[in-house]
Amino acid sequence: VTGFTGAGLDRADHLRQDPAALAAALGHPAARLLVLDGADPPAADRLAWGAMSLPAGSFPVLLGLQGGAPRFVAAGLLVAPGPPDWPRILSLPPAEMAIYAAARALVLWHARHRFCANCGQPTAPFRAGWGRCCPACAAEHFPRVDPVAIMLVEHTGPLGPRILLARQPRFPAGRYSVLAGFVEPGESVEEAVAREVMEEAGVAVTAVRYHSSQPWPFPANLMIACTAQAADDRLTLDRTELEDAFWADAAAVRAALAGAADAPFRAPPPHAIARDLLEWWVARQ
Ligand SMILES: [Zn+2]
Repeated sequence: VTGFTGAGLDRADHLRQDPAALAAALGHPAARLLVLDGADPPAADRLAWGAMSLPAGSFPVLLGLQGGAPRFVAAGLLVAPGPPDWPRILSLPPAEMAIYAAARALVLWHARHRFCANCGQPTAPFRAGWGRCCPACAAEHFPRVDPVAIMLVEHTGPLGPRILLARQPRFPAGRYSVLAGFVEPGESVEEAVAREVMEEAGVAVTAVRYHSSQPWPFPANLMIACTAQAADDRLTLDRTELEDAFWADAAAVRAALAGAADAPFRAPPPHAIARDLLEWWVARQ
């Protein structure tokens, strides 16, 4: 299963704008509040759910219904998180990882969007925490989702099919991954893929196809995975973005995915859609 998907919650949008139904959900005997340590899970291995006692100064965000039982997270307390506690987060079962990720994204969005971007006045949560509205100018603000295109670029030549892998200076030693970049205003996903590959690697691509997607709410990304074909394998790297790049054949990718000691690179980690793309590709070779 793709990382951070499969929460299995009914998001129950119909409750968000129905004050009576929302009050009933808040008072439901099975309603529970997600326990957080700052913005992190309080412990490894599983999420914790507590009674509906909201901390002073917080408000409930309706995460959804789990088997009919309302699930909330408290937001509105000023949170200044450090980096995510990855060991705790990645120890959660996949469905709980997805629930946590949505909760974290909402809590941090509220913390960072307390004032109206239109008029500067304080805003107030509405829609059960899935938005904020401005009492002064009536502007409505919604949680951010920033689309990122992430692309498996394939070249087929005399050396057989190979894919483009690159590393950024901030990556762990030996780690290589596929290219990725933000989709910009006025651009389709396909256009963003072609632009990004040209900017970073100097390679023209065609046949851009959607593959799959993954929420990556750290803080607010949606990863949109695509495949694309390169006509030419000559690379011209943008050294401000990339430290190195190369074309990897199936044997190299298989060795890296297996964690082989003599693999030519270290593969992306299991919860990343980049790894899903590599696994999908080698399975077809
Ligand atoms: Zn306003």
